Amino acid sequence: MSDLKNLMISVSGVRGIVGDGLTPEVAMKFAQAYGSEMGPGTIVVGRDSRATGEMIKYAVCAGLMSVGCNVVDLGICSTPTTELVTEKPEHAGGIIITASHNPREWNALKLLAANGLFLTAEAGDKILRRVNNNDFNFAAWDKMGKVNQYDAAVPEHIAKILDLPLIDAQLIRGKKFKIVVDSCNGAGGTVVPQLLAELGCEVVHLNPEPNGFFPRNPEPIPANLGELSAAVKQNGADLGVAVDPDVDRLALVSEKGEPLGEEYTLACVTRYILTKTPGDVVVNASTSRMVDDAAGDAGVKVYRSKVGEINVAVMAQEIDAVICGEGNGGVMYPAIHIGRDAPVGIALVLQYMAESGAAISELYGQIPHYVMIKDKIELPFDADAKGVVKQLETMHAGENLDLIDGLKVLYDNSWVHIRASNTEPIIRVIAESPAQAETEALVEQFKTKVREITG
Ligand code: MG
Repeated sequence: MSDLKNLMISVSGVRGIVGDGLTPEVAMKFAQAYGSEMGPGTIVVGRDSRATGEMIKYAVCAGLMSVGCNVVDLGICSTPTTELVTEKPEHAGGIIITASHNPREWNALKLLAANGLFLTAEAGDKILRRVNNNDFNFAAWDKMGKVNQYDAAVPEHIAKILDLPLIDAQLIRGKKFKIVVDSCNGAGGTVVPQLLAELGCEVVHLNPEPNGFFPRNPEPIPANLGELSAAVKQNGADLGVAVDPDVDRLALVSEKGEPLGEEYTLACVTRYILTKTPGDVVVNASTSRMVDDAAGDAGVKVYRSKVGEINVAVMAQEIDAVICGEGNGGVMYPAIHIGRDAPVGIALVLQYMAESGAAISELYGQIPHYVMIKDKIELPFDADAKGVVKQLETMHAGENLDLIDGLKVLYDNSWVHIRASNTEPIIRVIAESPAQAETEALVEQFKTKVREITG
């Protein structure tokens, strides 16, 4: 298809810069393909707060209506909230218009299955084939779909969280926590403060307007959380929480104003869940071993999947995990649904604090910590990145390896994970050990090996 330029297309959807690649035509084609494959039926559409979201939404709705699908329009809504509406039996699928943590000029379509999980690679592939072949089931003039607004999605999401057996809202309310929220002018501007109000918290809200004008890089990593850290200290708050624009990633700041790092979010929640309901855990291959420590203390097993939310979700269903997720702040709690959900993460962290009576810095201080470095090597344009990883695997044959996703070499106290990008000539190198110098040395050692192979 000649008009698919400057776009990142994958089985999970399409992503690009609006005005330079991502056009209404592209969004409509994907919606036509998606509706032809999933329909006829009713498709849920939610979007984050980006300035381009409304325009893309109309293109998506037109595409869905043209193939006879009805649309449930949630308006500005988080990814987990949209997933929860999608999984209702009366809905045939869902589309989320969000570029997640990408800068504000980006937008994307994330495609969901009827069960509210992301599409599997096979299902996504069928939709891509329809896009490439212009293979759409256009409906006759009198069979067009209709659009209905739906306003109850956020209150339903919050009610589901409060109904979780482990959440004791009365107990949390009694603590009168003071929380600083930074929703970065994203979709979290509604669901997060409303949840905290239900939990009796006093909320100081930074960047509250869901208008898509992100005042900082929206990825919730420590380097971007300076304003939140300062506000936590200044307000004498118990906790700071940062969410990304579509509210599926959560990062915590301690009452001392210290960003605890996004890897800590899932580790913290996992430790709490396993003390209450011990069971097996699924995380992706690059997630911190803080999760393994929590599982070890509880006497349960950690399974590791390929990187990518759907890979974690499918494995979690297979082994019936009690908690799962991705180390980048993506808490997935199967008791509500198997999707990354920052509001669920916030409620579980508050429950942990309320039940233990400990400050978040104390909970953080109770466990061993590691230094993780995420680096990458850019290869020449025509390089065979997967071939390089294979050669590294041969060099390390006989060592303790995990080959679920590229090459992961496991040592007593550390690991290094080498993975080829699917879309670019890049090799990602991620390492973790108890100390900065040791992690840096591991990364350098493997980058040198890659350079030797590629000459
Ligand atoms: Mg996101």
